[in-house]
Amino acid sequence: MNHSIPYGRQHITDDDIIAVTEVLRGPFLTQGPHIAAFETAFANYIGAQYAVAVANGTAALHLCCMALGVTQGTRVITTPITFSASANCIRYCGGEVFFADVDPATALLDINAVRLLLEQHPKGYFSGIIPVDFAGYPVDMAAFRQLADEYGLWLLEDSCHSPGGSFIPSDDAQSPASEHRCGDGSLADLAIFSFHPVKHIAAGEGGMITTNNEALYKHLLRLRTHGITGRPDDLTEFQPGDPERGGWYMELQELGYNYRLTDFQAALGMSQLSRVDSMLDRRRAIARRYDEAFRGTSVTTIVPPASVGHAYHLYVIQVDDRKGLYDFLRTCHIMAQVHYIPVHLMPYYRQFGWKPGDFPNSERYYARCLSLPMFPTLTDDEQQYVIDNVLAFVKS
Ligand SMILES: *Cc1c(COP(=O)(O)O)cnc(C)c1O
Repeated sequence: MNHSIPYGRQHITDDDIIAVTEVLRGPFLTQGPHIAAFETAFANYIGAQYAVAVANGTAALHLCCMALGVTQGTRVITTPITFSASANCIRYCGGEVFFADVDPATALLDINAVRLLLEQHPKGYFSGIIPVDFAGYPVDMAAFRQLADEYGLWLLEDSCHSPGGSFIPSDDAQSPASEHRCGDGSLADLAIFSFHPVKHIAAGEGGMITTNNEALYKHLLRLRTHGITGRPDDLTEFQPGDPERGGWYMELQELGYNYRLTDFQAALGMSQLSRVDSMLDRRRAIARRYDEAFRGTSVTTIVPPASVGHAYHLYVIQVDDRKGLYDFLRTCHIMAQVHYIPVHLMPYYRQFGWKPGDFPNSERYYARCLSLPMFPTLTDDEQQYVIDNVLAFVKS
């Protein structure tokens, strides 16, 4: 191959371009009707009651932490194997980040490690948990819900990797009716998604929050736009229908942000959403082919059980000589990537006392992981080229 193959890439069609240019020619670049249309369509796709579109996934995490009441000293647990934004959102609000190790079988936050951490402190010490559907493998949110309820904690699911992902809780794996979609609002209090171009739906930048909680939903709408509301029912200085209230009147009720999505981004997201199922099918087909190719070799893969509908944002392999393979693939123009450097080892988090050795499973995983190209327009020839070169390296 003389072109380079990235690990992830957006797919923009002529229909996407038409959808965006129609908005550009229309009256609303932002704060128009495409936002609510995209929110409704996305909520329907995920199976949640409410959705709030925001500027990006990080803004979604920040607003969720605000809405959940994270403030100075609030203690929240998350995983080291994630993009740092999953932890940073706690810091934006002045909260304290606690990590717990991952399960080596899934690379997801290990519920037993979380339980142990909770047991080591008095009830009320922690406020919430942010599990991450890392790589697209859905966290068993039913088990986390049970644990969270035992300790009175909220759950914020970072579903950036898993739109369309699903799982059947292990208690009732016999009844497919109980299948849960990531972020469907039935288990986690809030879930967030990103529309960065490497994610399933590309909007340039963009994010979404889903929930079934009406109070959180209304609060998030206000926080997204400075903390300002003009809704007659929500005003504090006037009763609804008060003739003294001018049409211009609105209230800044708390300190929020401008974290809005634009209408042309919403139109792009909406257009992409119409293809999201076929794009997910293609991701899964690519994963099956990698699974087959590496079975019985020294390349370790995580193959989920049938009860798990993996969404494959990433396809991660684990090998002994990860740096050697990374460098070799670069010489073949295959831009494999590492997800992730454990967040607790980042210089910013080391200042809080986290250090190498704190989370052995996460660190062992990090030492061996490499994400291979995984995106819907990856061709069969390109994938075969990737497989051939990985196998050539590990067998040499
Ligand atoms: C991409 C990502 C984010 C942040 O989303 P942005 O839209 O890039 O701000 C947060 N968490 C995870 C796990 C992500 O992959």
